[in-house]
Amino acid sequence: MGSGKYSMPSDGETRDSRWIAVSPVALLVESAKALAHTFRRLVRRGSFTVQYPEESLSPKKGYRGEHFLKRDSKGRVKCVACFMCAAACPAKCITIEAGKAPPEWTDREKYPVRFEIDLLRCIYCGMCEEACPVDAIALSGTFPIVAESRKEKVYDRDKLLVLGDNFGDKISVVP
Ligand code: SF4
Ligand code: SF4
Repeated sequence: MGSGKYSMPSDGETRDSRWIAVSPVALLVESAKALAHTFRRLVRRGSFTVQYPEESLSPKKGYRGEHFLKRDSKGRVKCVACFMCAAACPAKCITIEAGKAPPEWTDREKYPVRFEIDLLRCIYCGMCEEACPVDAIALSGTFPIVAESRKEKVYDRDKLLVLGDNFGDKISVVP
């Protein structure tokens, strides 16, 4: 070892060096600790398993679940179709088509005619939320994300808005 080279020891050498390295006292102490831990678990009442879905789980801070789109104070989609989220997305799973905003929408030029996220390609990195200049998109704390088809996991603008209506900032847990 001192020469910087490594050669596999024979079986006898491996066994010997291992037993020399571990002191018997340390072995006893660690074994006693393991046994004590086992007995503590045996006598402690209650289940350590969450009975999902009957019991709900609270996601930890920083958990990033499925996305939602926000509305502004007038109930319009907040997104201004600037494409910043799509440009930042490393998975390239956001598709946006921009349309000209109605003349009465004087605070913006564009809005998303089409806004889709393919959640089967998404890696839940949160970059889209970070990149948005108008705080229009966020990741939620949802975790029941199963579906029966691939198509169901492509969320369009209206579905993302409904998710925002239902949950909104209450479930946004991205710090
Ligand atoms: S969370 Fe990441 S991968 Fe998913 S849509 Fe946003 S930027 Fe793309
Ligand atoms: S969600 Fe935000 S970043 Fe993405 S297009 Fe809309 S305004 Fe731009």
